[in-house]
Amino acid sequence: MSQDCLFCRIAAGEIPSDKVFENERIFAFRDINPVAPVHILVIPKEHIESIAHVEDDHQALLGEIMTVIRDLAHEENLEKGYRVVANISTHGGQTVPHLHFHLIGGRSLQWPPG
Ligand code: 5GP
Ligand code: ZN
Repeated sequence: MSQDCLFCRIAAGEIPSDKVFENERIFAFRDINPVAPVHILVIPKEHIESIAHVEDDHQALLGEIMTVIRDLAHEENLEKGYRVVANISTHGGQTVPHLHFHLIGGRSLQWPPG
């Protein structure tokens, strides 16, 4: 883990968060500034900066993250649908350089986001 990384520190429990899921590899918590009634961030505990930094060895981890997202969406009663977003680097609007998937739902969402 990186001591300089906000999400590494959240996943390690050093910075408090509203945790909704944790296993050995993955951590999920509610976004501090939600854009919808449900706004959860799902992250690998391993420090990976973004999708642009994913390596072939991470394929199983990324697949597991998708199944965690599926299960959280079910637990949060998002049967009407939801959005999963990963922002990458500057033009992608990424503000925290630790890979995270936004799980957003609980209201009708517009597309494109702008
Ligand atoms: P990005 O813009 O990098 O895709 O998303 C970063 C997200 O992290 C934002 O939605 C922001 O609200 C959230 N965030 C930033 N700092 C914290 C924090 O300390 N705690 C929590 N729970 N969320 C945070
Ligand atoms: Zn990190």
